Amino acid sequence: MTVTRFAPSPTGLLHVGNLRTAVMNWALARRSGGAFILRLDDTDKERSEQRFIDAIRRDLEWLGLTWDREERQSERLDHYAEAAERLRAAGRLYDCFETPLELDLKRRKQLGMGLPPVYDRAALKLTEADKARLRAEGRRPHQRFLLESREVAWDDLIRGPQHVDAASLSDPVLFREDGQLLYTLASVVDDIEMGVSHVVRGADHVTNTGTQLQIFAALGAAPPAFAHHSLLTGPGGEALSKRLGTLALADLRAAGVEPVALVAFMARLGSARPVEVMTSLEEVLAGFEIASFGLSPTRFDPDELTLHSAKTLRGLPVESVKERLEDVGIPGNIAPEFWRAVAPNLDRLNDAAEWWALCRDGVEAVVEPEDTAFVAEAMALLPPRPWGAETWRDWTAAVKAQTGRKGRGLFRPLRLALTGREHGPEMAALLPLLRKP
Ligand code: GLU
Repeated sequence: MTVTRFAPSPTGLLHVGNLRTAVMNWALARRSGGAFILRLDDTDKERSEQRFIDAIRRDLEWLGLTWDREERQSERLDHYAEAAERLRAAGRLYDCFETPLELDLKRRKQLGMGLPPVYDRAALKLTEADKARLRAEGRRPHQRFLLESREVAWDDLIRGPQHVDAASLSDPVLFREDGQLLYTLASVVDDIEMGVSHVVRGADHVTNTGTQLQIFAALGAAPPAFAHHSLLTGPGGEALSKRLGTLALADLRAAGVEPVALVAFMARLGSARPVEVMTSLEEVLAGFEIASFGLSPTRFDPDELTLHSAKTLRGLPVESVKERLEDVGIPGNIAPEFWRAVAPNLDRLNDAAEWWALCRDGVEAVVEPEDTAFVAEAMALLPPRPWGAETWRDWTAAVKAQTGRKGRGLFRPLRLALTGREHGPEMAALLPLLRKP
């Protein structure tokens, strides 16, 4: 069974970069009838906040990325402590007493000598007496995982065969000196105990994977499959982090981006398959293929998303927007006809409210001075209600016959008189919806 997880730290709002990870994990699980876990990596008590947990849930719900299980790392600390005990008993977890300053000095020295700044494992040489003395001095140890000096390899579902030489890595710190557990161990323990079969995450985790594969082995567990997707950049190739302020999912929602468009966009961006208009999540799933994603950084252009969202919105069937149309005041019985008329002109669903207000309340007619007589003449020819699909065609034909006007000179003043605007939905479809005058 395919089991995936999306594991954000609730230390901020989700942005498009996180979303890519979420969509891929969700799609991988859903495509194969598997399970998708929302795992909150909230062991950092100082930076994790309930409001961010709420926001993460709200964002995923808005997008329709439903999850089968929710887990919080802060509620599983005993599991991590137990795993740590096992590592320690196996000689794979050891105490280190260096201060950050001492570690920094070591690193500088190594760099000065042209050596890679890898932790020298000096702590392994400490005797029990040394450690007792250091503790008595008030020092508290941080704990490192002892890597085996071997190459770690895996077949990445996106990047292909990968190798990380553990001999070139520092033994990772699993617990800080204040006892704070780090993500590296917690994540492995969770992946084992929750039966995670596939881990999809950003390419910034590749080295982590090398380390974590050794932790899986040290805990006697078979590792999941891994897929590391490329990181997003801004439209000009710049690091996205600079623009993330405006690319929070909450901002995109407020800007009127269609949720299904956003998911479809993310499920294709940076893959060999083109971004296509899709109007349902089922369609997104059917066209999702993890192996189709590429290795190079993926350009994300907010303007492209906006265009894609508008195109998607215009093609949505009325059933999938009916509730939201009602939310902005459009009665259910009018919705199908209204949507047919107005959808092709919308960039954002909320703009429908404006067109509805026009239909319901009418507008002050706009008549240019030179058109006054023409408009009066045309209005006199407008047949009495009810208006139907042919009314506009028949009416304008009659106006044309009587006044001799045609083309823009005929249509523009009529549109202005009826809607107060130069542009908008097809008049033939809009006219029957106008309740006033
Ligand atoms: N909380 C980690 C992150 O957001 C999760 C990484 C992972 O998927 O293992 O980077």
